[in-house]
Amino acid sequence: MKLETLSVHIGRGVDPATGEVAPPIRMSTTFERDVDGKFSRGFTYSRADNPGRRDLEQCIAALEGGADATCYSSGSAASLAVFSLLRPGDHVVAPIESYHGTAKQLRDIVAPLGVRVSFVDMTSLSKVTAALSGPAQLVWIETPSNPMLNISDIQAIAELAQRRGAVVCCDNTFATPVLQRPLEIGADLVMHSSTKYFGGHSDVMGGAVVTRDRGSLAERLRDYQGTAGNVPSPFDCWLIRRSLTTLACRIRTQTANAQRIAEYLTRSEQVERVFYPGLETHPGHDIARRQMAGGFGAMLSFCVRGGRDEAFAVAARLRLITRASSLGSVESLIEHRASVEGPHSVTPQNLLRVSVGLEHADDLIGDLQQALSQAGRLTQ
Ligand SMILES: *Cc1c(COP(=O)(O)O)cnc(C)c1O
Repeated sequence: MKLETLSVHIGRGVDPATGEVAPPIRMSTTFERDVDGKFSRGFTYSRADNPGRRDLEQCIAALEGGADATCYSSGSAASLAVFSLLRPGDHVVAPIESYHGTAKQLRDIVAPLGVRVSFVDMTSLSKVTAALSGPAQLVWIETPSNPMLNISDIQAIAELAQRRGAVVCCDNTFATPVLQRPLEIGADLVMHSSTKYFGGHSDVMGGAVVTRDRGSLAERLRDYQGTAGNVPSPFDCWLIRRSLTTLACRIRTQTANAQRIAEYLTRSEQVERVFYPGLETHPGHDIARRQMAGGFGAMLSFCVRGGRDEAFAVAARLRLITRASSLGSVESLIEHRASVEGPHSVTPQNLLRVSVGLEHADDLIGDLQQALSQAGRLTQ
């Protein structure tokens, strides 16, 4: 079955007892034992497993073409679950430019436990090769990256990593399985912040890790999830499962909007540079065309002519596009990333990142046009 059909039907069916078409929120924390003390119906206690969470996990696994998934209370809890697979003395290769919270976990939580972390420019295969000249246990990929929309070659990096026996995990939050399926081109694990496109409405936090097969990685993650206890609530599972039914529709419309906005921005005199993999001038365009079969995504960044003050002034003049963190929702959001990312940030000071929503592209372009048309003022 195709992704659109899976998103409506996996882990979501008519209840045979009642005929309910829409799934209920499964609140029970505990489950009845059989007379002999066993749990033949498969559920014991909600931290270990819960019917609503299982439905969500099966759906996310199916969308990514994986065998199993574990869900968490946030994307950060999901990345930490992957890092829990590491042991003192292990070596992780991670991108120099990624979601700043992932890099912070590696620096502040993982490295102090005795794990060596190499931050590498993943757009350069020779740099990845050099970083993998010795042993490595985990290679982390994020493509397109946050916030510069850099593209790294999943298949090529996975081949290099697997020669070293390293597990490859790809943060697929920006692309979603609608556009890119890393497990099909060599990754072992896919991680998601479900807070973004999976939830899609800026009203629920969550995370997921999908495994390509049912081997020991899946078992260790399942055991970690129940032991760490950082699980999503039944209501959060229900909200995300509900949102997945519209994922493909949202992504396609938001992606089409982003392509039009990126093209408009390249024509604006007040814009110095546009970062969007759907532009032929983007250095990762050819790789993106190959590995993002469904389109180039709904995230873009641009540098305002001038500096930090001019970028802030443009964001301040927008009326439709909201100044806020996060991404992947139905409403368009804009953010000055350098000031969010802190002292380790490599993001230009005049860069604004846009999460393109479901509004009409004409209205979004109109809003950017009026905000940018006054951009010269500050410097006159
Ligand atoms: C937001 C985000 C995360 C972290 O997810 P939370 O749900 O905020 O904890 C990780 N990776 C990427 C690419 C993100 O955008």
